[in-house]
Parts: sequence; C-alpha cells; structure tokens
Amino acid sequence: MTEHTHEFQAEVAKLLDIVTHSLYSEKEIFLRELVSNSSDACDRLRYAALTAPELIKDDPEFKVTISIDDKAKTLTIEDNGIGMSEPEMIENLGTIARSGTSRFSQELTGDAAKDVNLIGQFGVGFYSAFMVADKVTVTSLKAGEKKATTWTSNGQGTFDVEPGARETRGTTIVLHMRKEAKEFLEPMRLRNIIKTYADHIALPVILKAAKEGDEDETLNSASALWTRAKSDITEEQYTEFYHHVGHAFDNPWMTIHSRAEGRIEYTMLLFIPEQPPFDLFNPERKSRLKLYVKRVFITDDCEELIPAYMRFLRGVVDSEDLPLNVSREMLQHNPVLQKIRGGLIKKVIGELEKKAAKDGENFAKFWDNFGAVLKEGIYEDAVHGERILKMALFKSTGKEGETNLADYVGRMKEGQEAIYYITGDDLGALKSSPQLEGFAAKGIEVLLLADAVDSFWLSRITEFEGKPFKSVTRGSAELEKIKGAEEKKDESEKAEDSEMDSLIALFKTALADKVKDVRQSSRLTGSPVCLVADEGDMDIHLEKLLKAHKQFGASESLRILELNPKHALIKKLAASAKKNGTSEALEDAALLLLDQAHIVEGDPVADPVAFSKRMADFMAGSISA
Ligand code: ADP
Ligand code: MG
Repeated sequence: MTEHTHEFQAEVAKLLDIVTHSLYSEKEIFLRELVSNSSDACDRLRYAALTAPELIKDDPEFKVTISIDDKAKTLTIEDNGIGMSEPEMIENLGTIARSGTSRFSQELTGDAAKDVNLIGQFGVGFYSAFMVADKVTVTSLKAGEKKATTWTSNGQGTFDVEPGARETRGTTIVLHMRKEAKEFLEPMRLRNIIKTYADHIALPVILKAAKEGDEDETLNSASALWTRAKSDITEEQYTEFYHHVGHAFDNPWMTIHSRAEGRIEYTMLLFIPEQPPFDLFNPERKSRLKLYVKRVFITDDCEELIPAYMRFLRGVVDSEDLPLNVSREMLQHNPVLQKIRGGLIKKVIGELEKKAAKDGENFAKFWDNFGAVLKEGIYEDAVHGERILKMALFKSTGKEGETNLADYVGRMKEGQEAIYYITGDDLGALKSSPQLEGFAAKGIEVLLLADAVDSFWLSRITEFEGKPFKSVTRGSAELEKIKGAEEKKDESEKAEDSEMDSLIALFKTALADKVKDVRQSSRLTGSPVCLVADEGDMDIHLEKLLKAHKQFGASESLRILELNPKHALIKKLAASAKKNGTSEALEDAALLLLDQAHIVEGDPVADPVAFSKRMADFMAGSISA
C-alpha cells in the first residue's frame, strides 16, 4: 500500500474474485475484450480527429499490436487509440460504469457455477485480463496530452496508479501470465483466437515477430464486417461482431444485414439480442446503435436513429450521405438521418413480420423478451403502429401460451362483437379477477394484459379490424347476447328480481357518495360483488397507473358496484331487504362488500379501522351459539 494505491469499487472486487477463482472455461475471451477496447479507443480518436486532425498527424495508421515475451512470460497488447488520462484510468479501470451494475452485483450468488453464467451475460470487459494474468500493467498516454500514467494491479482488492513512461499516444497492456495460461504465449493459439474473435475488427491486429528481422504478421482481415458481402460472412463472424458492437455476450436472435441504394445510401447491420439486457426498462436507456459515416465511427448515442420502442436493437448504421464532419448537434432533425430512420424501422418491422409468419414459436421468444418494448410503438408510431398491433402476442384466458389478435378474432363466439380484455399489473391476479367469471362460464376468451404499456395503447387504439376493444371491467357485460359454449340453466338459483330491487335501493342509499351506481351483474358467477367502470369512464387500471405517475387529478372516478344475484350471501341479503327493509346489519354488509370489492382490485381499504370493527360486528351477529 502506498499513496498511489486505490481500492476497486465493491462490484469490481466481487467480479474479480469470481473471475480469478472460478474455472471460467472460456479464458481466451480476454483477448477479444482487450482488442475490442483497443478498437473502440481508435474509433473514438478517429472521430475526435475529424475536428482536431493534429491529434493523429504524427501516427495516422490505427492498429493493435500483440507481442509475446517468452522469457518474461508476458503478453503485451498495444494500441494507438485515444488513450486515458490519469483520472480516466482510475475511473475506467476501477469501477464498472455500465448501467445495470448494481443489479448484477445483487444477483451474484456466491455459487460459482451460477455466477459464471451471470458473468457470461453481463460481461467482464477489461477485468477478464485477470483470468489469465496474475499481474496487469496498463500504461496510457491520452492523445494531445504529455503525461503518461501507469496502472498496476494483481486483481486483489487494490490497484496502483503512478506516472508512466510512454512517448506516443495510446495504451499498452502488459499481462504477466499465470502458469496455467501459458498457452496464450503461443503464436498459433493467438492466431486462432484473433481469427475467431476479432477478424471483423476494422483495423489491423498485428502479431509482432519473435525475432528481430522477421516480418510482423497481420492476423485479421481488418475490414469493417458490414462492408463485406453477406455471402462472405459466416454466422460465427456475425456473432462475434455482435459481441463487439453490442457489448453483448449472448447470441443474436436475429441478424439484419442490408444495404440501401438509391437516393440515400447506407448499410445497416442490426442485431436483436437473444436475452434482454439488464436495463431494458431504464427510462434513461437510449439507443445503442453505432452511427458511422463512410466507415468512420461518429457516435453511439444518437436518439434520432431509432425510435425508443426499438431500443433493443444493437449494431451499426453506416451512411454514405452524411458529411464526415457531422457534429452530434447536426444530427438533430437531419433529413438524411430521418430517411435512414424510416428505412430502418420499415426493415425491422418487415423482418419481424416474416419471422412471426414463418416461425411463430421462435417469434414468441422474441416477444417475451421485447414485446413490452415494441408495443410502445403501437401508439407512438402513427405509421407502423397498426403493423405492430397485428404481430403482437397476448396472454389470454382461452389458450395456453399466447395469441395474436387475428387468431383471437377467429375464435370469437357467435354474437360476440368485441375483443374483450382485462388490464392489471400481475398476471396471476388478473386470472382470478371476479369480472372474468361470467366470461369463463360462457367460454368467451379474454385477453390478459399485464404490461403497463397495454393500458396506454388501449387508451388510443379503439379497434382491430373493425372489432372494438372492450374492457371486462368497464360498462355492461352484454353477456346475454353471446352464445356460450355450454349454457347452464341455473336461473332458479337466482334471487328474485323484486328482492334484488329492494337490496339495490338499500345499497344505493348506504353507499351514496362512495359508488356511482349499484346494479345486478351478469359477469359474476362465483364472487358476490365486483367493481366496474362506467361506460364513458376511464378504465380502472389505467386510472391507477396515471395516479401512480401523478398524471391525474387526486379525485378518483366513482365505480359501479355489481351484485351477483346467484351468490348465497347476496340472496340472503336480498330476501332480508325485501322482508325487513333497512337495518344496521344490511348497511354494514353494503360497506363491507364495497371494501371487499376494492381489496380484490388490489386497492387499499379506505378506513381499515372501521372495516375491522364492522367485520367483527357482522361476524358476531351472524354466529349463533
Ligand atoms: P466497456 O468496453 O464495455 O466500456 P471495459 O471493461 O472493456 O468496458 O472497459 C472499461 C473502459 O476502460 C472502457 O469503456 C474505456 O473507457 C477504457 N479502456 C479500456 N481499454 C482501453 C484502451 N485500450 N484505450 C482507451 N481506453 C480504454
Ligand atoms: Mg470493453
């Protein structure tokens, strides 16, 4: 420990511990990570040099050089990229800045097998160096600066940062290889790894000759992958490129590689991940597509390139028509970029439609991961929203798995005019909603919509192919008009209409300012009561969502309380109402049943103390010794 010693961020220390002590099988990926970082560093400098060409004047050929020192048992990876200043080194090589880090850290279990899998998804980046090295030295000089810095660590809790010796810009990483990792000091092994993992890197990766006088050897193709013909690219190469460009560690679920020619020329190489990233629903999460202009990296922070509802995409877009000196500000409202964006959306939606039609099972996997994101497009994208709605999959009461709307419509019952749905935030709770009972009894399918976004698109989109969407928690249920699968005649079990009329009148008085109306229900079979919204009022769940986001006035709309005339309790109450008129017990029952209906909706009880007292009194009255 010296004054130059720093401690790793807790997450990094944990990560390093696992990386060095678990038997992570794919040790060779350390080279991919380091070369990938070098390539990123060169990309960033190339961009900076567009406006400050003096930064690269003395050394304009970007490259990564690998050299082996057999005697010292070291492997050195060097680049002439942008480099790091001292504070940048402390920040970049001592913490993990990536979003989702704390969540990642929480999910580490301490069980090596499970954690290795998690690391595989999260990625170790620079820290993978410690899988093969027991000491790592990084010396870096930031382009345009004069003082180099050296960072050293054995990966155990701390690292040292001191002035370093490097005359030219860039970064040198020296790995002191562990005994069991000496295979990575063999040229053959390195050649293979680079071919496998870094062939797509657009700058040369050079293996330094072992002896003075021998030729250095370029190990990769050193041309940007997306510029090559599709037929020349293997699936493995696409996957490796995806890992590099998307900072991802899974496989692409879909790869879209296409060139647009004509008035506007651009190439896109896009990937849809197989696994959802940790921070998919982070509101600050932006596009991660990389924008290139004529092979020069411009930015990976360009919101104009894709809409937010496609934020799951990874990859690159390379334009021939934007000026090379385009500044990030110029990208806003840029007509060329707008055209590219339009083309890209069309292409992605087209490919997804094809997949949905050809391979529904596989498409369902995509939908599970990203459907909730893509659905934002249903209401945000006036042009493509309808096509997204058409491919959308929904859970439903009628079918295991998921259904699209066309199939739902195909299964609609005779006399059924609407597409029925219920929204909520928990699928389990939705399935047991009392409002579904009557529909279930008639075999009428109801869509179970549990994503927050569902309430939003449903407030804008009113129909699908002429069939209106209708919430089962709003308006009257109209169940009488629909021919059920097997209609049971249980009319005899119902309370008499005249009894129900007395009960309803009495409930209306007791609940005067608490409900909008009280009425008989046709949608209940097992539960005594439920709440529904009036035809013109806002859906119950949407109102709750808006309230949670403080979007709606504090006042809640009053609901309609529906009573099930077939329920034993309601029958008893109705008989008593007709025979004896109003009583304290009946008033208590009205209030209790209303509270109960709210509880089923997941609402808090308005006055828990009064509720408990009433409940106890009511039970006391109903139990005879
Ligand atoms: P990531 O590449 O996903 O950002 P890494 O752990 O691989 O994560 O790298 C951490 C950071 O360290 C990089 O984002 C970059 O800022 C910096 N870095 C790593 N290697 C280099 C390098 N060769 N040149 C310049 N900066 C580097
Ligand atoms: Mg990296």
